[in-house]
Amino acid sequence: MASKLEQTLPLKLLVDRKKSCVVMAEASKDFIETLFSFLTLPLGTIIRLLSKNKLNGHEEAKVGCINNLYNSVENATDEVFWNPICKQMLLRPRNPCRALCRKLKLNVDDNEPTRRFICSNYCKRSNSFLLSAFSGVTCIKCGNPMDKKPKIMVNDSSSEVTHRHEDGVFIKGEAMYLIFDNLKVLQSSPRIFVKELVQLGYKDFNNLTEIYQNVGLKEQALSSKTALSDVFFANGFSKGMSTYSPKIGQTINHGRSDYRNLKVTVSKSKKKILHAEAEEDFVDFLLSFLTAPLGSVLKVLDGNASLGCMDNLYNSVKELISSWFFTAKIFSLLNPHVAPQFGFKKWQPLQIREKSACEYKYDDISGVLIPQLLVDINTKFYEPRSPDGQKEVGFVRRPSVFVVWDDLRVIPMANASSISFMQKMNIPFDDLEEHVITIGNAEALNLLGASLTTNAALTEGLFYLLEMPNQDARA
Ligand SMILES: [Zn+2]
Repeated sequence: MASKLEQTLPLKLLVDRKKSCVVMAEASKDFIETLFSFLTLPLGTIIRLLSKNKLNGHEEAKVGCINNLYNSVENATDEVFWNPICKQMLLRPRNPCRALCRKLKLNVDDNEPTRRFICSNYCKRSNSFLLSAFSGVTCIKCGNPMDKKPKIMVNDSSSEVTHRHEDGVFIKGEAMYLIFDNLKVLQSSPRIFVKELVQLGYKDFNNLTEIYQNVGLKEQALSSKTALSDVFFANGFSKGMSTYSPKIGQTINHGRSDYRNLKVTVSKSKKKILHAEAEEDFVDFLLSFLTAPLGSVLKVLDGNASLGCMDNLYNSVKELISSWFFTAKIFSLLNPHVAPQFGFKKWQPLQIREKSACEYKYDDISGVLIPQLLVDINTKFYEPRSPDGQKEVGFVRRPSVFVVWDDLRVIPMANASSISFMQKMNIPFDDLEEHVITIGNAEALNLLGASLTTNAALTEGLFYLLEMPNQDARA
C-alpha cells in the first residue's frame, strides 16, 4: 500500500495569475478515473478522510452537519449496537465498487480487499457453511473464532477483471480531459478548449500561465493547499451551507410500513426544531446515510441539495456516458448502491438499495470459495446487524430511544440528562411545544438534503411540515 500512497499523477493547470485562480486543468484518463471514483465513496468514508486531513493540520471541511452523526457513532459505547462490528461498519463503511477502485492508479479509498472467513470448525447451518465478510466474528454455532481464510477463486466472467491499459477502470482508450473550477469534466479538444475559455471571458493567453504539477494521493483529495482539492472539498462542500429549501412533494404511499412517527420539540419563537425523540428504526435510517455512496445520494437528491461541485462532477459523468470512451462500469458511478450488508433494509424511504452480495460455493476438499450465480451455493453469510447473526434487524440494539439534536448529534436517551439538557437550551418552558411528525419518502429526502447542506438538519429539512395546514399532528 505504501508505494501506492506515494504515487502521483501529472496534471497541467492553467492559472490566472491576476485573479490567482485555476481556470482549468488538463489531465489524463487515470486522473479522471480517480476523480470519478469519488462518487463510489460512502459518506462515512468522505467524513473520515476529511477528518484525517484535519489531523494533518489543514482546516476541516464540513459536509453539512453529517459529521456530527459520524462523531456520535464514534463516541457511542459498543453497547448501543448489537456488536462492535456494527459500529465499525458505520465508521468504516465499505465501498460498493472497491474491487474496481483497487485497480485505479490512484485510489483515495483505503478500504481493505474483499476477505471471507469461515469457522475454524467448518460449522454449517442447514447444510450451508457459515461465512463471514467481517474479521473478528465469533461463530454463532460453536463459539470459536471465524478466522479460516479460504482462497477465493477469481472468476473471469465476474467482470471484475479488466486489462487496465486497454480498458481502464471506468474509461476506455486514451484521451485527455479538461477539468473546470466547478469540477465539470469534458473531453479535451482544441475546439472545446477555446469555446470554454471564451465563455469564461478570456480572449487569449495573456494573464494565463501553464503549470505542471504532479499530484499525489494526499494532495489531490485531502489537502486544502492544492487547487483541485480546494475546489473539491473546501469550496465544493463548505460554501453556501446555511440554508436548504425543502422540496414539498407528495410522499409516495406504499402503505403504513413506509412511515415512521417522530416526536419533535419545537421553539415557537425561534421556529426551530430543537431535538427529536427517535426510536431505533429512525436512528438506523439516519445512520445509514453514512454507508450510502455519494453517487447514490446525488441520484436520489436529483439536484435538490446543491452539494457544491459534486453535482457538476455527477452531471459530467451523466453527459459523458453516451460516448464510446466509457465502459459499462461507468454506470455504476451514477448509482453505486450500498455495499452488501451495509444498508438498513427494514425501512428505507430513500430507496437506496444494497448491492447484491456475491454468493459462493465452498469446496471443502480444496478449501476454495467459488463465486456462484444462484446454483450450487452452499454458504450462508453471518449477519452483523442482528442479535443472533442470522436475520438483519438494524445497526442499533432494540428496543432503544435516542435524542437527535437539530445538528444531527445522536445520543442514547439513557445517557441524556434532562436537567443539563434543558439548562443548556435556555429557552422559557412556555416557548416549547411538542409535535409528532410523520416521516415518509419526501420527508426523508428533505432530511438527507438538509443534513448535507446545513447545520440545522431537523429545522431546515422538516420544520416546513409544522407550517403546513392539517399536517401538524400535535402530541
Ligand atoms: Zn463454528
